[in-house]
Amino acid sequence: MHIHKIEIPTPYAVGDVNAFVVKGDALTIFDVGPKTAEAYEALQQGVKAAGFAMTDIEQVVLTHHHPDHAGWVEAFPNATILGHLYNDKWLRHDEEFLRYHEAFYRERLFEHGVPQEYIAPSVHVRRELELVGKRPLTHILADGDEVPGHPGLKAFETLGHAQSHLIFWDEASHRVIGGDLLLDKITPNPLIEPPLDRTVGRTKSLLQYNESLEILRQLPVTTMYTGHGADLTDIPVLIETRLARQYEQSMKVYELFGDDALTVVQMTKRVYPAIFQRQLGLTMSKTLGHLDYLEANGLITSFQTAEGIYLFKRK
Ligand SMILES: [Zn+2]
Repeated sequence: MHIHKIEIPTPYAVGDVNAFVVKGDALTIFDVGPKTAEAYEALQQGVKAAGFAMTDIEQVVLTHHHPDHAGWVEAFPNATILGHLYNDKWLRHDEEFLRYHEAFYRERLFEHGVPQEYIAPSVHVRRELELVGKRPLTHILADGDEVPGHPGLKAFETLGHAQSHLIFWDEASHRVIGGDLLLDKITPNPLIEPPLDRTVGRTKSLLQYNESLEILRQLPVTTMYTGHGADLTDIPVLIETRLARQYEQSMKVYELFGDDALTVVQMTKRVYPAIFQRQLGLTMSKTLGHLDYLEANGLITSFQTAEGIYLFKRK
């Protein structure tokens, strides 16, 4: 299995995103950058540098649905499109699913203490969709599935950063195409996203993310090809370091409680006083992640008020 890396510019703070052209029995590209003119240019150059034309690509495989990864699905006219079922909902720009999304965020923002007047302007799912492609999946990949045309290359469902996240592990070479599960210089955010299963309420993204790290830790890996930044080796050491830092950060959040019972918004203000207003969704996601972690470890407890707002306090 030959892997060729393409670095693609994005308009996001994260910087470039990586795509990988993989030659097996089939010719496959993993992730396709955001749907911008600059990204298309970089994709075309990269595919050419790998020795192919855009029309040669037979499969597009997506690690997750975020716009920096799932934009240019339409750039490969002869390719089938593969990814997680959740990804398909995004690529269809399905109106009913978008309404579910928006209702989900409105409910979460309300129950976590965002004042009513800030809720409507904070929910902008459609803006995120602008750089996502509009071609539905032709093939759904589930946990344990082999990527067609790549014998021994297996998908592992690894949710947390995204509710559609998959990594692909090659059992012969022990290399893995890892999306945003573990990155060189960045800690992937445990974003609050509406789950596919609408009966479960919200998912606890940080706890889910930690379970996904555990899946990765169990796999023998020589090289991990990541969604942003450098390739990784020494995965268990890196996971250990990240989990230790996460524990420290959660304990800092714990210290900030004092004797108070707080909403997520109130705690977010304490944790991120300088940026919480500008980056409400992101800072709330991170804070809620720490609160879920502290609660799962028996350090804090939560309860819902008569109005339906969640309060967290030390045990
Ligand atoms: Zn990404």
